[in-house]
Amino acid sequence: MERLLVEEDMDLIGFYSGGYAAPLTGFEWAKSVVVFGLGVEEEELLVGVRQKGWSRARQFVDQILDLAACRVANLLLRNGYLSEVVSSSCGRADLRALALLCGLGSPGKNGLVITPAHGPRVRFAAVATDAVLPGYGGNSTELCSGCDACIRACPAGAIGESFDAQRCLEYSLRSERRGKRCTLCTDVCPAGVGEP
Ligand code: SF4
Ligand code: SF4
Repeated sequence: MERLLVEEDMDLIGFYSGGYAAPLTGFEWAKSVVVFGLGVEEEELLVGVRQKGWSRARQFVDQILDLAACRVANLLLRNGYLSEVVSSSCGRADLRALALLCGLGSPGKNGLVITPAHGPRVRFAAVATDAVLPGYGGNSTELCSGCDACIRACPAGAIGESFDAQRCLEYSLRSERRGKRCTLCTDVCPAGVGEP
């Protein structure tokens, strides 16, 4: 499975097996979760793509991630394991919590996962499974420096002592309607800048 995700050019790959897999994925049979992600420094990845029947556009990067997730889920199914895609579009699970569980980064003040090489400029997808997978991943370093640049940059006042996801969502949807989803807090975040 890891080889498949490397073939798919995923920048981050992590596995978790244990008691949090079921509650955090929303699948009671889940014993493990694999989470993977792509850095989104290239503007093209954030372009919104809308297909017939979709109520709103989805970012191109999320479609790439979903295709990779389908390949992983199919591989597990072919090997006799239950598996389900956990995508950013299904709203079933918090992918940030799953990425933290797999050790792919540390929490940032802007409510996102700060990763070593891409800072918060990353998108995730996941697959839940009843297979028991070896743990893999494992960042335990605090990557948010607490510089507060994201707080100063946020026009919605969504970042403070805690992160106000509703305020962020409302502003982001307005900004998306104007042509591009808001990325101001990730644009200014110094984490991961200049990393290979
Ligand atoms: S995405 Fe925009 S609105 Fe949301 S927290 Fe970041 S800067 Fe604020
Ligand atoms: S901008 Fe600074 S405070 Fe905000 S998430 Fe990034 S490192 Fe943390």
